[in-house]
Amino acid sequence: MAFKTDIEIAREAKKRPIQEIGDKLGIPTEHLLPYGHDKAKVGQDFIRSLEGRPDGKLVLVTAINPTPAGEGKTTTTVGLGDGLNRIGKKAVICIREASLGPNFGMKGGAAGGGYAQVVPMEEMNLHFTGDFHAITSAHNLLSAMIDNHIYWGNELQVDERRVSWRRVMDMNDRALRDIVVSLGGVSNGFPRQTGFDITVASEVMAILCLAKDLEDLQKRLGDIVVAYRRDKSPIYCRDIKADGAMTVLLKDAMQPNLVQTLENNPAFVHGGPFANIAHGCNSVIATKTALKLGEYVVTEAGFGADLGAEKFFDIKCRKAGLKPAAAVIVATVRAMKMNGGVAKADLGAENVEAVKKGCPNLGRHIANVKSFGVPVVVAINHFYSDTDAEVAAVKAYVAEQGAEAILCKHWANGSAGIEDLAHKVVELAEGGSANFAPLYPDDMPLFQKIETIAKRIYHADEVLADKSIRDQLKTWEDAGYGHLPVCMAKTQYSFTTDPNRRGAPTGHSVPVREVRLSAGAGFIVVICGEIMTMPGLPKTPAAEVIRINEVGNVEGLF
Ligand code: ADP
Ligand code: MG
Repeated sequence: MAFKTDIEIAREAKKRPIQEIGDKLGIPTEHLLPYGHDKAKVGQDFIRSLEGRPDGKLVLVTAINPTPAGEGKTTTTVGLGDGLNRIGKKAVICIREASLGPNFGMKGGAAGGGYAQVVPMEEMNLHFTGDFHAITSAHNLLSAMIDNHIYWGNELQVDERRVSWRRVMDMNDRALRDIVVSLGGVSNGFPRQTGFDITVASEVMAILCLAKDLEDLQKRLGDIVVAYRRDKSPIYCRDIKADGAMTVLLKDAMQPNLVQTLENNPAFVHGGPFANIAHGCNSVIATKTALKLGEYVVTEAGFGADLGAEKFFDIKCRKAGLKPAAAVIVATVRAMKMNGGVAKADLGAENVEAVKKGCPNLGRHIANVKSFGVPVVVAINHFYSDTDAEVAAVKAYVAEQGAEAILCKHWANGSAGIEDLAHKVVELAEGGSANFAPLYPDDMPLFQKIETIAKRIYHADEVLADKSIRDQLKTWEDAGYGHLPVCMAKTQYSFTTDPNRRGAPTGHSVPVREVRLSAGAGFIVVICGEIMTMPGLPKTPAAEVIRINEVGNVEGLF
């Protein structure tokens, strides 16, 4: 069976002018700032004018632990948005923007797939409306101002060995992970070791995605800890006096981007923080704007529900005062099989036993999400090779867990393939059973917050941390950061910190390697395992075959 590729489908899209999409949401022409014909930003004044309007219902799309078989969270987010519109609900989609660098490593986009995509997908995956370039510039302005401050006499007494603020670039470039700057003599400053991270790992990205408005943005930028003195006291971005200029650079990037689905429904694509060292959700400002404009807002959180949904609830919803009405957990038969021990090469053959064996991974995610007081439905994202018996096995298992699994064919059929899920989501959201609460209270000690997540969500027995890490957490509590939520950074592939342990393991321990303070974003990053903040390219990068073809289309990107 031959299928059209995502890009082939996207190129056939019958896009409507972006103003028409804005009209659907009641955004007046003068408040829609077009970037070409098919993208626009929504003006700050208009966003401010929405205050006081009632909110629509917020629906989170999350998933089981990812496997190389692929789950399709974005595809299902877009499909469900179209499905809700199809059954007569005014629904808006909110997803993240794509990082540029990874496109040139491995093929693959971030705009959904099949007949559930947002367009223009090529631009979304490349420069889009320039938000990430603005973030890169704002971040690096601060870096430049720190070294400049040291150069001109270092009045703040920055300890050059303790500058935690690095530089960023939206490119996979391992050569820049660890570098020495200011080489070349007296006029180039004081040599010191530093490095680059990829732009999506910048704290500025996390801040932009959590800030309420420009004022809040500037305050949070000012709060960033950039370095320490010899006495280990912190130096803030505010001390370097970079927060005002950074806000100026980010002024336009703070405004949500409006695009459309293949079915001409509205989608906000805004912000894209890492899902490990940050919280992995699109911007608060886009989600809140969408909630004022639509009856339903469908959004996605990165990775599986153990990381993505937990951070969506405990960081984004807690901080922004959002109350999700329902959650969809995306599962695939293929991923259940992989969780049940089948190798990727053998996924094509029917194996009901392996599906059953893999289902406990899904079961734990269902229970976890329910424990936040959010009603759950499972979307089985249908792949062509799935058999009826395999699908039936997943449905039967989910029914035993007190939830329903619904077969969804949006990838192949667009909104027509996902009506059942749309109806179920409406039933859950309007049933009034949601009673959202974060997992832990603000005032719980930081280490106990980590333990709560490890035990309740990962089903671990214990958290292992050296005295130095516990002392560090204590120091931050004393400095007034004890009320912050924690942002777990661990492998997305397992409930444990070992990427190879599939299913629903118990009895493991969670070793904490490092803790970092993101004072501007407003969370404590807890690093459990190897976390890469500057990816590299594979041996044969996709960039080698990307080109503009004879008819002027981009080739090789997707
Ligand atoms: P996630 O958001 O979970 O990372 P995506 O929705 O981006 O996943 O999907 C990843 C890839 O899998 C996309 O290229 C998409 O086209 C493909 N995909 C998703 N669902 C299906 C499906 N049902 N059948 C075939 N391919 C699919
Ligand atoms: Mg995705």
